[in-house]
Amino acid sequence: MINIAVDGPAGAGKSSIAKSVAAEIGFIYVDTGALYRSIALYALENSLSGDALVSSLDEINVKLEYKDGAQHVIMNGRDVSDLIRTPEVSMNASKVSAIPAVREFLFGLQKKIAAENNIIMDGRDIGTVVLPNADLKVFLTASAEERANRRFKEMTDKTVTYEQVLEDIRQRDYNDMNREIAPLKQADDAVLLDTTGMTIDEVKAKLKSMIAEVQ
Ligand code: C5P
Repeated sequence: MINIAVDGPAGAGKSSIAKSVAAEIGFIYVDTGALYRSIALYALENSLSGDALVSSLDEINVKLEYKDGAQHVIMNGRDVSDLIRTPEVSMNASKVSAIPAVREFLFGLQKKIAAENNIIMDGRDIGTVVLPNADLKVFLTASAEERANRRFKEMTDKTVTYEQVLEDIRQRDYNDMNREIAPLKQADDAVLLDTTGMTIDEVKAKLKSMIAEVQ
């Protein structure tokens, strides 16, 4: 099985790029952020945090299903793919992902999917922790301003300002890079791809050529 790890900060374009390249080359795209988001949603819905969340983990069943190539997150039998995309869930995902028991809980699921499929998996610790032997590791990044700008443009209902989106991105970068367990960092053997000033098509072409080299 061919395993491609794509890590990087929030808003670097990992998911849109990995998703579309995976579809073009016939790989499965695995968005691991969605797994953390589903735990975050469960925590919010049930007003749980810290130890209380940890002791409830065995009540959570998370599965990834693929319909027409699109990833769906199923939590306790419910498709939560859309519900996990709110700013509130984003921020709580960043919080719950710092809990070691939460990371451990999701680790096995990620390993299993990678062992059984040709995949492009995106996240924060894929190259460093989840798939240390990935065939290719890419660290995709861009300046915080550019990432905030892209996120802001994507938003259809502009209920938040650009400044708020930027602040959110900075806060999540800080959380993700400074947590004790599996912090966001470039693996020693990862290729750095800084997409500031690049178009999506340019980034996709670059990623495809890197994958072609390891196939
Ligand atoms: O990638 P996305 O923005 O959906 O991820 C949501 C949050 O989940 C991130 O801010 C990060 O804290 C966490 N995450 C993680 N490890 C991963 C993927 C996501 O800690 N592999």
